[in-house]
Amino acid sequence: MSRFIAPGSTIGIIGGGQLGRMMALSAKQMGYRVAVLEPSIDSPCAQVADVVIETAYGDIEGAKQITKVSDVITYEFENIDEETAKWMTEECYFPQGFELLAVTQHRLLEKDKISSLGVKVAPYAAIFDEKDIEKSMLSIGFPAVLKTCRGGYDGKGQAVVKNEHELRAAVSHLLKQGELVLEGWVPFQCEISVIVTRSTLGETKALPVAENIHHNNILHQSVVPARITEQMQNSAKNIALTLADGLNLVGTLAVEMFVKEDGSILVNELAPRPHNSGHYSIEACETSQFEQHIRAICGWPLGETTLHSPVVMENILGEHVEPMIEAIPLMSGVKLHLYGKKEAIEKRKMGHMTALGETTAKALEKLAKLHQY
Ligand code: AMP
Repeated sequence: MSRFIAPGSTIGIIGGGQLGRMMALSAKQMGYRVAVLEPSIDSPCAQVADVVIETAYGDIEGAKQITKVSDVITYEFENIDEETAKWMTEECYFPQGFELLAVTQHRLLEKDKISSLGVKVAPYAAIFDEKDIEKSMLSIGFPAVLKTCRGGYDGKGQAVVKNEHELRAAVSHLLKQGELVLEGWVPFQCEISVIVTRSTLGETKALPVAENIHHNNILHQSVVPARITEQMQNSAKNIALTLADGLNLVGTLAVEMFVKEDGSILVNELAPRPHNSGHYSIEACETSQFEQHIRAICGWPLGETTLHSPVVMENILGEHVEPMIEAIPLMSGVKLHLYGKKEAIEKRKMGHMTALGETTAKALEKLAKLHQY
């Protein structure tokens, strides 16, 4: 049953990273208090929260503490232990529920579910043990991508395989991490994503399509509007809306997709939360993905998602922090976001920048100038 969570109430966020921080900042702007559960000390979200509970994510005592002080519970990352998620669904107001979490925590369940809703994914086959190699290889062919069903992100737990020998080696290595899925290689023209949000009142809205450029499997830039035809953008949005309905979404879902050479679209993966590729919406859209998420779980009407300007978002990883801080004198037309992480470890997401422009090419130019500093 949907409830209206009035400003002044407390929103409990599981996970204290940058997504939790930006969710919390939107929630604070809207008049809420914020509690966060996160094991690490001085996390990005803890720095802006009213109440901090420092326990492991799967610790039921921690879950009890956060539910005691919160009027609604949400999360910033999907790998929440199933027991805890089920407990929260029964014991407190957790409108997003555990069902979508269970599906998106497991690549195979996720692909089965997406396909059952009539949405296309790359060809795939399950590998539960070495006996499945032969069959999967015959149905998928090469090249292919072997992925762990659980826990992979930013390309971790994955291997591109070009022949049987490489597949066998990768399977014996990755099977230690549990079930696997072999996916056909998709020769794509670009990668895109759509962030869709559905409220507890059943209202659904999608943000404009982002074109995502990865470096070493980590998101580097999101270019919006995506440089694909309007028809393709509409197809991508329709896919996201179909999934939102079919999955009984509450809250936010990021749908990552491949655009093939022939213009057709396949879904790569889902994340049931705000997403790195939606950060551009903070400056470029009428409603950011974070505000939209808070509206959705608190029973507000959703905000408009109009794009006010072409935009490019660029991530700042550990190795980029120093040069970007030196480039601040050149940032009059660029918005800098830093997440308050102390240690600038290589490849760690430390912040991002957003450049608006008359065109995406002009926004890209603004960011390129910073690299020449
Ligand atoms: P994922 O963790 O599944 O999002 O994969 C990370 C990145 O690897 C994607 O953003 C793609 O650039 C690439 N990738 C993953 N799966 C495939 C595939 N089946 N075909 C081609 N590229 C892929």
